[in-house]
Amino acid sequence: MDVRLNRELLLEAARSFGTPLFVYDQDLILERYREVLTFTPWPKVKILYAMKANYNPEILRLLQNAGAGIDAVSTAEAILALKCGFSAEQILFTANNLTEREMRLAYALGVLFNLDEIATLRRFGEIFPESDLCLRFNPEVVAGENAKVQTGGEFSKFGLLSEQISEVREVTARHGLRVVGLHIHTGSGIKEKSKFLLALDNLLKVADRATFPDLRFIDCGGGLAVPYRPGEERVDYPVLGKEIAARFAAFCNRYGRDLDLLFEPGKYLTAEAGSLLVQVVTVKRTRRKTFAGTDSGFPHLIRPVLYGAYHHIVNLSNPDGDLQSYDVCGNICESGDLFASDRLLPEIRPGDILQIQNAGAYCYSMGGLY
Ligand code: PLP
Repeated sequence: MDVRLNRELLLEAARSFGTPLFVYDQDLILERYREVLTFTPWPKVKILYAMKANYNPEILRLLQNAGAGIDAVSTAEAILALKCGFSAEQILFTANNLTEREMRLAYALGVLFNLDEIATLRRFGEIFPESDLCLRFNPEVVAGENAKVQTGGEFSKFGLLSEQISEVREVTARHGLRVVGLHIHTGSGIKEKSKFLLALDNLLKVADRATFPDLRFIDCGGGLAVPYRPGEERVDYPVLGKEIAARFAAFCNRYGRDLDLLFEPGKYLTAEAGSLLVQVVTVKRTRRKTFAGTDSGFPHLIRPVLYGAYHHIVNLSNPDGDLQSYDVCGNICESGDLFASDRLLPEIRPGDILQIQNAGAYCYSMGGLY
């Protein structure tokens, strides 16, 4: 949760551009980028920005200039990244349920495929023999801020399983495929350092040189957590980074070559840097509730409705008003269209501008036209 975007500036932005309005602090995005780049003391760390978190072209260009690569999950994302200045070599294409049409399109773009399913791998090998690719494994760890964004473990659809290694070997050998990277993504908003480390250990167990002699990188995926609530502690990533580096150094020693270590943060780079500014249109008292009705709704910021996520809200127009309990709602004809329920906020009046914080990741990009 970031409070550096100053109140006057935000109010001025709301006045100039109108609401609802997403506002971003680019310095904070760059600061978070540098943090992830340096928290693990390993000389060959690379960052692929998971652009699904926010594919605003300005943010993409900012991170491209800073030296990031891209984790793209659709051909549309890959094309947008190319348009924003990333080269094909900087893009990892981690698709799910890939159709043959998408496969051919992405291949023509020149991006590196990250595949996690045997039949798709087989098809890829048949169509594009002797290609480089990356393989995604199930980290065998369940972690993440809610069940919907946990992508590891027995019930997950993602990743190859360690018991499929012989099949992987057979398919890659048959088609002369070169596995240049191995990948995991465990979930979003992981706070437990031990789970990161266990997931990495599990991937490194699979990464032996006899099976994968051509490795250039190991990709730990995304999932770095940010605080959403006031007073919530930040994860001490430098402490985690030291552990990661120690494990990775030992692995590279065994493997016989120093590999690149990749991270794919989405949320960590952009969440705190973004705010959604909304205007209150009505304040309506019913028998049980007071609704602050805004000019926005879940088509702009769906995380509270979809995940029960907490987003801190500030009444920019009346920061010192008396605290009262509000349901802050949108203008959609569904009772679930709430940004916050029973939230204590300084008195809200029609016309007030509210800042919904931590709206930089999985808000704009998960938006719709409903
Ligand atoms: N990498 C992959 C493959 C993902 O699916 C995701 C998120 O869903 C990410 C990276 C980014 O995760 P986060 O935004 O939690 O860092």
